[in-house]
Amino acid sequence: MATMTLQFDDLLARTRAHCREAAREASIPQDRADAAWLDIHRHGQQRPEPRPITRTVREGETIKFTMQLADGHETESVILPMQGRTGRPRTTLCLSSQVGCALGCGFCETAAMGLVRNLEPAEILDQWHAARFRLDAKITNIVFMGMGEPMENLDAVLAAIEVLTDRSGAGIPASRISVSTAGRIAGIDRYREFMSRDDFRQLRLAVSVNAPNEPIRRDLMPITRAEPLEELRQAMNRWLQCGGRTILVEYVLIPGVNDADDHPAMLAAWLDGMDCRVNVIPYNPRRDSPWPAPDEAQVEQFIARLRDSGCHVNRRRTMGRDVMAACGQLGRPDIRRRVPLRIPS
Ligand code: SF4
Repeated sequence: MATMTLQFDDLLARTRAHCREAAREASIPQDRADAAWLDIHRHGQQRPEPRPITRTVREGETIKFTMQLADGHETESVILPMQGRTGRPRTTLCLSSQVGCALGCGFCETAAMGLVRNLEPAEILDQWHAARFRLDAKITNIVFMGMGEPMENLDAVLAAIEVLTDRSGAGIPASRISVSTAGRIAGIDRYREFMSRDDFRQLRLAVSVNAPNEPIRRDLMPITRAEPLEELRQAMNRWLQCGGRTILVEYVLIPGVNDADDHPAMLAAWLDGMDCRVNVIPYNPRRDSPWPAPDEAQVEQFIARLRDSGCHVNRRRTMGRDVMAACGQLGRPDIRRRVPLRIPS
């Protein structure tokens, strides 16, 4: 463990128990460290020079905010008020795990940036801290679905989850935290091992599938070339066999690409009775998109066919389209530092 100081980042990125342990090793009085930790995690104390929130864009109750990091790069996060399935209101915070992303999904605004860099745990947690204490949002749920592929920066994401679930601080139950992946199989397996620990068994996994078959997915999501659909399905089944909760299968519906009449049945056959729920997300055209958004009739018809094929289906309400805060729309077109796509052998 790194040497403990009472600096903001050190305290923000640790659970209370880790903070106590590190304080003991650094001969810092425990009550001093404890009080400093609580000031940040419970009472919203800010860092001496708060990271500037450079943009806040609202559409209805959806808020997209951009925060500037010490090196000038930015994170983007979205606060989404929603109603849960039981009708109870909830407020979901969508977190970024990287600046940009290397995976190059064809429907995604972030992809145009390439990967700039991974975020540190404190930079992930700062997004929660800003949403909670500077924008005064009562965050009930967390999704790692913002900029970046969380499995590419999994150490930092898991460290952030440990802090977010700490009952002395944010206290967000594991059951209300989802990590979404474009299909990094090694990452899914590591996340599964983490989930197998006491306290984390209720964590959620979301997998962005987006295609009924391998050729369409390969065109939309280059990662498919390295991580074929069949291997992805096996990783998802391992998650379920180890007691993981129902998987959320995300399907961005793009007219003329993955919405043909026979695609719902093909997707259902691929899922093969897996314990999952398909979340149909009407495509939000990114800048310079070659595809339009689907119309209401196309979405409804696709969902009806999926249900007829035996799938459990949700429809994601389209929120934030006008502020480019909807799924696959985070990222700044003016930050483009492309790095080659890294596909493991
Ligand atoms: S959809 Fe996700 S994994 Fe794909 S490029 Fe965008 S941020 Fe990366």
